[in-house]
Amino acid sequence: MNFWKTAVCWAVTGLTTGLLLFALCSPGRADVAAEEPKYVALTFDDGPKGRITETLLDGLKERGVHASFFLIGNLAEQYPELVQRMAREGHQIGLHSYDHLAPLTGITRAEFDRQIGQSRTIIQNILGGEREMMLRPPYGKVDDNLRSWCGCPMVLWSVDPEDWYYQDPAREIESVCSAACDGAIILLHDTFPETVEAALEIIDRLHQEGYYFVTVEELLRLNGVEPQTGVCYYSAGQWK
Ligand SMILES: [Zn+2]
Repeated sequence: MNFWKTAVCWAVTGLTTGLLLFALCSPGRADVAAEEPKYVALTFDDGPKGRITETLLDGLKERGVHASFFLIGNLAEQYPELVQRMAREGHQIGLHSYDHLAPLTGITRAEFDRQIGQSRTIIQNILGGEREMMLRPPYGKVDDNLRSWCGCPMVLWSVDPEDWYYQDPAREIESVCSAACDGAIILLHDTFPETVEAALEIIDRLHQEGYYFVTVEELLRLNGVEPQTGVCYYSAGQWK
């Protein structure tokens, strides 16, 4: 009898100690989030677009978030002060064509120079010096000529809520927040007030889920990726 009492007593003591140690050593959910931050890049195409882009920049500044803007050359000419503000506030600036009338595929070298060479010069003149810029190919279309002519890495995307089509903040928020994952590149357009409204809410929601917002350059660097000229980057872990 004594033997069994002692055995049960030891078993109970051992189990209690084990549970106590497990409880003390297991990290809580908040600790896990703190140890493994998740990074995503918000990218905005087709701007700058006057007051709409300005409202977005205000919201990003309030939240301490850096984004990446792929600009249209003729709009950069129209809103140079917004381009300067983007650079001043730490956003990444990239190229997206001069007039966005057609994809950059199947075009002549002269047309490529008009779309990209000209836009590069315009943006560099606005920002007062040479700078490296990545390219977002319009419509996500790429061919061999574009790969060899672009002279820089190309940024595609892994999350696309088709904001330009739906223009519905609730739908955009749900679409992006449900698809977001570490290393994602999110495609949006700062040409619609609905997208600005959605983008700021997306930031607030994903912040609560432990996400940090960085530029595409930072996202690749944080994942140990050295961007290469002529290569298309879809996310921090997918390129070709
Ligand atoms: Zn575009």
